[in-house]
Amino acid sequence: MNAFQYRDGRMHVEDLPLDTLAERFGTPCYVYSKRAILEAWREFHDAAAGHPVLICYALKANSNLAVIDLLAREGAGFDIVSAGELRRVLAAGGKPSRTVFSGVGKSADEIREALIAGVRCFNVESQAELERINQLAGELGRRAPVSLRVNPDVDAGTHPYISTGLRENKFGIAHEDAIGAYQRAASLPHLEVVGIDCHIGSQITSLAPFIAALDKVLELVDALHARGIVLRHIDLGGGLGIRYADEEPPSRASLLEAVFKRLAAHPRGQRYELMFEFGRSIVGNAGVLLTRVEYLKRNGERHFAIVDAGMNDLMRPALYEAHHEVRAVVPHEGPTQAFDIVGPVCESGDWLARDRRLALKQGDLLALMSAGAYGMAMSSNYNTRGRAAEVMVDGDQAHLIRERESLESLFALEHRLPAG
Ligand SMILES: *Cc1c(COP(=O)(O)O)cnc(C)c1O
Repeated sequence: MNAFQYRDGRMHVEDLPLDTLAERFGTPCYVYSKRAILEAWREFHDAAAGHPVLICYALKANSNLAVIDLLAREGAGFDIVSAGELRRVLAAGGKPSRTVFSGVGKSADEIREALIAGVRCFNVESQAELERINQLAGELGRRAPVSLRVNPDVDAGTHPYISTGLRENKFGIAHEDAIGAYQRAASLPHLEVVGIDCHIGSQITSLAPFIAALDKVLELVDALHARGIVLRHIDLGGGLGIRYADEEPPSRASLLEAVFKRLAAHPRGQRYELMFEFGRSIVGNAGVLLTRVEYLKRNGERHFAIVDAGMNDLMRPALYEAHHEVRAVVPHEGPTQAFDIVGPVCESGDWLARDRRLALKQGDLLALMSAGAYGMAMSSNYNTRGRAAEVMVDGDQAHLIRERESLESLFALEHRLPAG
């Protein structure tokens, strides 16, 4: 059931009206539904029942400790891309033994820290990274579990900025180089080759690219098997899309079922543990960005609603022309206009939505829907704006899970020049 619904003329999240949350916590404010996150997670979890599968949550979509904590309690694994994210997993009670370390540019310090913590696996993206991990593991007297991120050269059919599985992307190791890289990895004394992974992009709204990628990965698994390199797991990454406007992505369960079916048809398919790294699909529809209309303004033919959230709070529209539905929290009567919803930041790219028919007046509260993933996580302090507060609602309880940043904190790490 949708956690964001109108009741008595006001949008609620679970059992609380959003306008009372705006009064209590101020705006702009991210509001998440605990129930919506759990429902998304459990759909994956239940679909995986009876199969050897580790579903990881890709932290970069929304790395608030409360979100990690919630998913850790449900037994989720985690996909991290930095030492900072590793610290978050540890701080929130997640297990390093259920954490995979992805990313194209892991530093020596990050690799050391992950080796000492004991992560489940390094998802390695280049030959040079293999050599570095081998050396650092040797220095620490350990063997590093590695998987190679291969690039299956599959078009995920998504925005170029979030498509990662094509040959020209910076990510992964090209299909034709993968066998050589595995042979090298298998020859290095401080590495243990445990798996293979891919991640072809984000906001994917059909099953076909996932299955095409799996087929490419299975080809490599077979070729490696023939050369005596036997893997334990196959990690298909994340990327399942959500509905922002009228997209119709496959259900979480149907994706897992399609993968199980394809693996069942493979002679050794049942032997591999499966892993996934979902971010957006778990948290995307579970959050909104609450913002208040500061001014209405007309320039020529265009009508603007200037709101108190900007591109520093929600960057997706400016970055990828992403669409977020806009809803009035307490809709009222009145003539409608086609509004551009824009922020206070001094950039023409600072818009949140365009050409939305709404009846608005100054002081109205708006909810930017589907803002749970890559919203707060991508926010910045541009224009010396403190980041928004974050609240998680559980039934009729609201928990402040991140305080609004104070203005003093924004320059607390800075230093003036010495006197004189
Ligand atoms: C970003 C990312 C994910 C998560 O992607 P979603 O589209 O949010 O599911 C998973 N794995 C890797 C390696 C990533 O970079």
